[in-house]
Amino acid sequence: MQELLNDILEEVKPLVGQGNVASYIPELAKVDPNQFGIAICDTQGKVTTAGDANTGFSIQSISKVFNLVLAYIYYGNSLWERVGCEPSGLPFNSLVQLEYENGIPRNPFINAGALVITDMVHSRLISPHVALRDLVRKLSGNPYILADVDVAESEFEYRARNAAMSYLMKAFGNFHNDVEEVLHTYFMNCAIRMSCVDLARATQFLANRGFCTITKNEVLSGDQSRQVNALLATSGLYDEAGSFAFKVGLPGKSGVGGGIIAVVPGRFSICVWSPALNKMGNSMAGVAALESLTRHIKWSVY
Ligand code: GLU
Repeated sequence: MQELLNDILEEVKPLVGQGNVASYIPELAKVDPNQFGIAICDTQGKVTTAGDANTGFSIQSISKVFNLVLAYIYYGNSLWERVGCEPSGLPFNSLVQLEYENGIPRNPFINAGALVITDMVHSRLISPHVALRDLVRKLSGNPYILADVDVAESEFEYRARNAAMSYLMKAFGNFHNDVEEVLHTYFMNCAIRMSCVDLARATQFLANRGFCTITKNEVLSGDQSRQVNALLATSGLYDEAGSFAFKVGLPGKSGVGGGIIAVVPGRFSICVWSPALNKMGNSMAGVAALESLTRHIKWSVY
């Protein structure tokens, strides 16, 4: 495995730094694009790494996976009354569907869906961000994980689009708490900094039918973990989900910080990170690394 990861690192080197780092907020635009890390965690909890696998980065939309776990914990399957499970085929921050689908977002991995999920968690918890932070700390075994407050504040300043979709959902009755408070939590969740090693460990339960062998905890039931993987496969990579399935063939979730988590059910969880993004907002070198990985070892869910 170590040799394979070293080979992948060499193979994708020419792509590292290609594309553009996210620039919609100044804090993310400052990140050095010439970084690349990969970590794989097997179902026993053994981690293999290459490159900058211990460097922390903004997890951004990958937080939506953990947010969904919290919603499962507090609502079980009734959470699906307020959010759908269909791919959107539209950019992650699109509002158009909300208008003609009565404020019910297509899935929990686009912004509108993650905002509804954050709203739901707000209805049950006094400190929803602390709950999410503690969940990732526990799952990764890293008690030092924190949100980058500068990133969260910068996001909050440029919140117009996310605020617009939240208010639209409120108008349809699908948003129950104060919009600005929920947005604050949502941005703090996105601004959590984790490394590839942290994320590979924290998503290991998805490779293991919901059971985390690191903490010896059932995070989700086997059925729920299967549902999350199905959603990751159909909706985890923004509007590139189809070609990601075509090229890589694994459930995955990307974030505009350049991280991508992917799952080989029954075998491994993976996290790759490289900050420069392609036109769809996914890490250019990260997608290439996952493509190379599945090609070399012939792992795919298809
Ligand atoms: N914080 C970002 C936003 O809501 C998340 C973007 C992403 O990683 O998809 O705009």
